[in-house]
Amino acid sequence: MVLFFGPPGSGKGTQAKKLSLEKGWPQLSTGDMLRAAIQESSSIGLRAKSFMDRGELVPDQVVIELIAERICHSDCAYGFILDGFPRNRSQAVALNDLLALGHKQIDFAIYFKIEQEQLILRLSGRRICLECRAMYHIQSAPPKLVGICDFCGKKLVQRVDDQPEVIQNRLVVYYQETEPLVEFYRTQNKLEVLNAGQTPEAVALDLMRVLK
Ligand code: AMP
Repeated sequence: MVLFFGPPGSGKGTQAKKLSLEKGWPQLSTGDMLRAAIQESSSIGLRAKSFMDRGELVPDQVVIELIAERICHSDCAYGFILDGFPRNRSQAVALNDLLALGHKQIDFAIYFKIEQEQLILRLSGRRICLECRAMYHIQSAPPKLVGICDFCGKKLVQRVDDQPEVIQNRLVVYYQETEPLVEFYRTQNKLEVLNAGQTPEAVALDLMRVLK
């Protein structure tokens, strides 16, 4: 069981997707789950939308329930990758408690460390496909046809929360709420720090070294 945490735009999703394909562990991204819930207009989606649009954290109870339900699925039996959960101390404590119920624990808490200036450039150029979840960047990883997903041909969109005003708020929330998890996991001897400011290929190599 590994979990990825770090600021928005630090490349957690990209690395989680890659590792998931390589290891066959499912990628459990609370952000993706919540966006899917919004698209389906489910009650969770309706509750989460306003928080997400403002760049704030969705209430703990909502995301903890999502994760508690998801990790019981059979595909999680041999490992999973948590991408974007936990995002504060109370979620981290709830996660430890949930795993302890099944006599399990986190193996590694991987911290994606990166400078703030790099994040703003990455986030403001990000485009996503809501259909197949592929991710692009208008400068560093553009699609073959402008605005169209290479894999499924659907139109790419910019996340509402990747607009400049919301990015700023997400970063404030991150440094207040999530960054303290560095100390939380250091104390538990689970912390591994990755230099997330490198190319995705270099980050993937470092990640492999950590997981060996
Ligand atoms: P992400 O795709 O991980 O950047 O998440 C997008 C948004 O979903 C965040 O800005 C939050 O509003 C919400 N979200 C995702 N994961 C969590 C979480 N673990 N706790 C609270 N809110 C979350």
